[in-house]
Amino acid sequence: MINYEKFANSEIQNLISIQNKFKEIFKIDSYENWFFDGETEILRFYNSSEDEIFFKYITIGTYSLKSKNWMWSWFNDSSIEKSKEQTLKIRHFGIENKYSKLTQGTFPSDEYDGWDFLAIGLKTPGGIGVYKANSENLEKYMLLINVLDSKNSNEIKKFKQKKIDCNNHGVSKPAFVCQHLDLKKTKGFVEAFETFEGMDLEDDDDFQAWCNECEEVRKKYDGWNEESEKFAKIKLVCEKCYFELKKFNTTN
Ligand SMILES: [Zn+2]
Ligand SMILES: [Zn+2]
Repeated sequence: MINYEKFANSEIQNLISIQNKFKEIFKIDSYENWFFDGETEILRFYNSSEDEIFFKYITIGTYSLKSKNWMWSWFNDSSIEKSKEQTLKIRHFGIENKYSKLTQGTFPSDEYDGWDFLAIGLKTPGGIGVYKANSENLEKYMLLINVLDSKNSNEIKKFKQKKIDCNNHGVSKPAFVCQHLDLKKTKGFVEAFETFEGMDLEDDDDFQAWCNECEEVRKKYDGWNEESEKFAKIKLVCEKCYFELKKFNTTN
């Protein structure tokens, strides 16, 4: 039997080659924005130019940046995602091979475990690519199962009316900010376009803001690209969080 580290390493190599092909085929890097919804289990990538693509996904687990703990989806009572049962396949595989990281519901972890788990998940339950979505203090590791036809799907219609369920504010519209913006220290607030609370947005627009430092990096790279996006590490927040952040970071 191969030990876990060796096994995970070889699966990561497999993930890299699958992911490179996936990105190329679906032109993933050409999309600036993303949004997901747990009830429909759909992840959307999109642009202001109205290009968009939809994937069905399975969240295999989450990593809390606050507690530094990994939690498998099958263990997560607060997750409403139906497909979380699918992640039990990874657990069974772990039991058979005595890989304890695959069998404990939650444990202290780091930013690398999740990628190993995605790589293993590509084998079972399977997928065509992977994605990590960031929200407040939480990283969500997703297997992308298949692409949805954007014209014929009722699911997509349902998805498009979706809102975010914020821990602090309840159900509200989604918004996006860089990883640095918080309510502790003023960091500036640069917006994609001028906003006010409660304003109506076009279908393909989102509230989007980043800090002064991100703006410097963005300018240096002549806009958003892989490098500047890596620095900003845009995360999902609710509309109310967004305007709290705006107020704090522009007036204090
Ligand atoms: Zn920033
Ligand atoms: Zn909120």
